[in-house]
Amino acid sequence: MKTIILETPGQFTFTHTFAPETFGEGEALVRVWRIGICGTDLHAYRGRQPFFTYPRILGHELGVEVLAIGDNPQGLKVGDKCAVEPYLNCGTCIACRRGRTNCCASLKVLGVHTDGGMREIICVPVNKLHRSEKLSLEQLALVETLGIGAHAVQRAQIEAGEYALVIGAGPIGLGVMQFAQAAGANVIALDVNAQRLAFCQQQLKVPHAVLAGESALNTIRDLTEGDLPTIVFDATGNAESMHRAFQFLAPTGKLIFVGLFLGDVTFADPDFHRRELTLLATRNATSADFRHILHLIETGVIDTNPWITHQATAETMIEQFPSWLQAETGVIKAVVSF
Ligand SMILES: [Zn+2]
Ligand SMILES: [Zn+2]
Repeated sequence: MKTIILETPGQFTFTHTFAPETFGEGEALVRVWRIGICGTDLHAYRGRQPFFTYPRILGHELGVEVLAIGDNPQGLKVGDKCAVEPYLNCGTCIACRRGRTNCCASLKVLGVHTDGGMREIICVPVNKLHRSEKLSLEQLALVETLGIGAHAVQRAQIEAGEYALVIGAGPIGLGVMQFAQAAGANVIALDVNAQRLAFCQQQLKVPHAVLAGESALNTIRDLTEGDLPTIVFDATGNAESMHRAFQFLAPTGKLIFVGLFLGDVTFADPDFHRRELTLLATRNATSADFRHILHLIETGVIDTNPWITHQATAETMIEQFPSWLQAETGVIKAVVSF
């Protein structure tokens, strides 16, 4: 079967490998039809993904079809189209026992820590398959990316009408904006890139967009009638931005770190205490988030049409991949047909 392997940073090979023919207890064989490319894949290609080993078959945002499956509690059957939750958890650690499977102590992400979906057929746990009878294969491949935003918004417990500032209008920040709006927030987008802000306003109908810079704080204060937002998401993974994010919060507000960087975040404790702020981290997503996303797309609350800006096939991906690293190409999400 067709397989693409990332051999070392910057070097993919297109090859053929043997397709799996059997599957274990609680598993299924699936045909991978669509693969979304995300920041993790780009970082791995650049050689900048922490704790990453080569060679690796990438692909963790998957739109698949069930090829072979045993009896299962979900009632999944051959031919069902599914999104794949790529977070393989142990089921027994303290995080798993508390239902926080996204934080499993021995979490392995399919396509990151183990070989993923850039091949025609893979074996996956049945409980990581999320079926939809309505979504296209492309939409199913987007669910994982959206999951990061959906989970971040779930962590924030937004109340309708709250102002939510989303710092960073990359694919993760855009997901946060869509789910925050679905939760009833009055969203303000903040980014250094005017083109991305225009995308937020035109495509995602985000009501307010602010260009990062010295006047941003005053602009945001004016937009919120002097209050400042009670929710701030930082989806930049940028140390300076995460440090500055505290300044945008109203008293009693919540700051949610969506992006991460390898280093320390510091903040002034008196300011933190005076406003009685809440600081939250968020990572990955849970099965419940996946079901929530499928429901919101199926019912038209979340529109996935603006997301896919670039497409390739298994045969053309290697040539096109480097261009997806360039912000100038306006890439939001590239999807590979396999
Ligand atoms: Zn991803
Ligand atoms: Zn666990």
